[in-house]
Amino acid sequence: MPVWQAVVYGVVQGLAEFLPISSSAHLTLLPWLFGWEDPGLAFDVALHWGTLAAVLAVFWKDWIRLLGAGLTGGGSETDRRLFWGLVISALPASVAAEVIEELPGWKLHALKAIRYGRFMTTNVVVSAKDARPTRYPLTAARSDVAYNLDAFVIRTPGNFDEHGGCFHNIVGDPTARVIWDDPDHTIKTGTLRELFRHHPEYRERVVRVEVQRWPHGMPLYSVGRMKTYEQLAEPVGGIHFCGDYTWASNMEGAALSGERAARQIHGTQA
Ligand SMILES: Cc1cc2nc3c(=O)[nH]c(=O)nc-3n(C[C@H](O)[C@H](O)[C@H](O)COP(=O)(O)OP(=O)(O)OC[C@H]3O[C@@H](n4cnc5c(N)ncnc54)[C@H](O)[C@@H]3O)c2cc1C
Repeated sequence: MPVWQAVVYGVVQGLAEFLPISSSAHLTLLPWLFGWEDPGLAFDVALHWGTLAAVLAVFWKDWIRLLGAGLTGGGSETDRRLFWGLVISALPASVAAEVIEELPGWKLHALKAIRYGRFMTTNVVVSAKDARPTRYPLTAARSDVAYNLDAFVIRTPGNFDEHGGCFHNIVGDPTARVIWDDPDHTIKTGTLRELFRHHPEYRERVVRVEVQRWPHGMPLYSVGRMKTYEQLAEPVGGIHFCGDYTWASNMEGAALSGERAARQIHGTQA
């Protein structure tokens, strides 16, 4: 990779990392937009090390103050709480459940009931009706697997015949587990065969298919889980809990659970 491209990546990373957006999408978009070679995982990791170095350099005084407060017990109560709050929030929930022994049994029980399932997206871009016909290469696929959960209902808005569009296909946990390690071309083939069965009109209009694996896609339903909702949301000793597993498994549930935690904190400080 030429040095100037690395500089562009660095500038985009520096500008985008502090925005509440995906921390890797901008690195995927750049090569896609300009036709550059994908820089690879090692380069991504190096960029994030750069971000870490920048954060440490800019906030070094705050870090020393927080470390002093947290580790030596000096400084203000707010700094001590913030330090330990940061430590705890950097632990995945299941690990936190193991290490925070002071959590009461009912809370541990509720947290341990959460299981995130696998999730796969197999998006298909199709062209407009009068575009040049395509012939997407099909290989083999499993005959006993339904490669699509939503019967191709979730799609970009608009008239596909006029402008083309994208089907946002979803493969749920039970199926995703079966096909997880299959090569991408068989998953794409299975998805397309199913698309053509539902919609033969797209047989010569497939432009692109993408497979994305989400190892912790969505909280799974399990018997008795609904009973734990109230307990999941309940703060314990100044620790507040939010996220889609405490409300509903979607963006709205996640946002509302954050608002609830903020209200709880505000209530305890008022
Ligand atoms: C493919 C896919 C499509 C979806 N589509 C939709 C949709 O169309 N509409 C909809 O409403 N919902 C959708 N959802 C669900 C929605 O994205 C989630 O419910 C929502 O993002 C959950 O928000 P959250 O804040 O609880 O968790 P997340 O958004 O997962 O945020 C948790 C954050 O914690 C970070 N983290 C994890 N471990 C640590 C650690 N140890 N230390 C520090 N940070 C850590 C993660 O990097 C992440 O940024 C979709 C989900 C997936 C996977």
